[in-house]
Amino acid sequence: DQTNSPFKIVLLGDSSVGKSSLVLRLCQDKFVENLEPTIGGSCIIQNIEIEESEVKLKIWDTAGQERFHSLTPLYYRGAKGAVIVYDISNFESFERAKDWILELRENGESDSKIVLVGNKIDLETKAVEDTTAQKFADKNGLLFFETSAKTGEFVNQIFLALAKLLLGK
Ligand code: GDP
Ligand code: MG
Repeated sequence: DQTNSPFKIVLLGDSSVGKSSLVLRLCQDKFVENLEPTIGGSCIIQNIEIEESEVKLKIWDTAGQERFHSLTPLYYRGAKGAVIVYDISNFESFERAKDWILELRENGESDSKIVLVGNKIDLETKAVEDTTAQKFADKNGLLFFETSAKTGEFVNQIFLALAKLLLGK
């Protein structure tokens, strides 16, 4: 019963793209300029209300294993949703995001919902155009948002959208 068991949601993406910062913003509405890379920000969000239903999400963040390419499929096993993050100022991180999507499609839950997120929109330097990412997302049936964990822009929307998808609304 969903009222008792939260949906598992994982964050994936290259190191330093802002995964832990997004979780920190979501769960504590905070931003820290130099976050310790090995501290994951996992948390549970209670009571997201979607059209009279309530959803709980358990958000999983890595403890920095992606830096050493040592994140195992155990991390995303059972995940009903995945937030794949890249940094809009770093093109390489966008390419890595595509790899993560492939990996999830191959080894993850068959019905998992994937959201593509371009983070750090507060930065001036833009290496990935939103139109490029949107096109990729459309082609692959993913939701797409651009966010800033620093300012908080569109961070909640990621998780609201996921909650809606998971409820089929
Ligand atoms: P992770 O390795 O993907 O978990 O990335 P972190 O959350 O640890 O963030 C890496 C660095 O990017 C940290 O110094 C953060 O302060 C910074 N950062 C994260 N999100 C943003 C953002 O939206 N804007 C800016 N300007 N910096 C960010
Ligand atoms: Mg992190």
